[in-house]
Amino acid sequence: MIIAFLGPPGSGKGTQGKRLSEHLKLPHIATGNILRDEVMNASSLGLQSKDIMDKGNLVPDHVASGIISDRINKPDCTEGFILDGFPRTIEQAKSFDTLIGKTNQKIDAVFYIDVSDAILIERLSERRICRRCGWNYHLIYAPSKNGDKCEKCGSEIYQRSDDKIETIKQRLKVYEEQTASLIYFYKQQQKLFNIRGESTIDRVFKEILEKIPGK
Ligand code: AMP
Repeated sequence: MIIAFLGPPGSGKGTQGKRLSEHLKLPHIATGNILRDEVMNASSLGLQSKDIMDKGNLVPDHVASGIISDRINKPDCTEGFILDGFPRTIEQAKSFDTLIGKTNQKIDAVFYIDVSDAILIERLSERRICRRCGWNYHLIYAPSKNGDKCEKCGSEIYQRSDDKIETIKQRLKVYEEQTASLIYFYKQQQKLFNIRGESTIDRVFKEILEKIPGK
């Protein structure tokens, strides 16, 4: 089963993607997380991407598609996987279809998580993330019980360098200009499931589970 999460930054793709990955026992593949690891390790990909990410722009399509191609070739992906933050452009979506088409695979469902801009800005500007396990916190609504350490693994929690207000606005603009057209792209293919993303994490997750095809 191949499932993709689509939605603006802060809509909950990461949180719900991680949950669904645990529930379905399929790997959660987040291109943003992979890129942040590359930046942290100062690899050549990381060094090329850091500035682009810090400005809230997208890395080139061939870079994002290359990351996915390498990742889904790993043995843990044979039963399927959950995509979070990929594809982000029509070009990426088309090259992904071609890639998985070679092994007669296809995307089964795309969950589009819909959240208003005002809520996205509020969520992103107060968001904090665990450096090791990637668990998400919110300073007001879901702070870590361990202060600045992660409740799950005890590692440091931090603010992403692109979760600053000016960069958040640029990421929302980039989403509208380059990613939002994927809603129509997948709707036409009858793969799109609308999810109301403004309620609690549990309620959003319940709606996703109810909409998984074949469940
Ligand atoms: P995310 O963690 O999904 O919000 O991604 C963080 C940043 O990584 C984005 O703002 C982009 O700079 C970059 N990125 C992640 N996924 C992609 C993608 N599929 N295409 C292009 N850039 C991406």
